[in-house]
Amino acid sequence: MKTPTKQAEELEGIKESEILEEVNVTIDKDAFKKPIRCCGRLAEKAWKKISYIGLELTYDVWRCSKCGKDYLDAHQSKNLQKIWALQMLLEGKAPTMERSLNYDGKTYFVRFPKDLTSGWKRKEKARMTMLTPEKYLVEIV
Ligand SMILES: [Zn+2]
Repeated sequence: MKTPTKQAEELEGIKESEILEEVNVTIDKDAFKKPIRCCGRLAEKAWKKISYIGLELTYDVWRCSKCGKDYLDAHQSKNLQKIWALQMLLEGKAPTMERSLNYDGKTYFVRFPKDLTSGWKRKEKARMTMLTPEKYLVEIV
């Protein structure tokens, strides 16, 4: 194991005096599911609305009752991300790509570029939602 001094020699721009000690941190798997603290108190759950082309979409946030600041936990962030993805899709602004449709004699399949799949794991599944007979939404779940 390298000493902090040795690491400092290897890292540019970090002075030896800035390195204190090595610390191990464990983040609880539910750390981002709990209510968020702000101004010394627990934030309260609040609902926000986004109106878009006649649709009213709601999502929840954690809101500080003192300063009014809103926070999103991991679950809430995913929900808001879905709303933004829906907006981009409806506006035709979602990034798209055209890929060859392959056929192995029985089944059609599409290959994803390696650049997009670096975070995928082997046992993950693809959930396909049919929007129209020619349009599908593919989610990696
Ligand atoms: Zn606050």
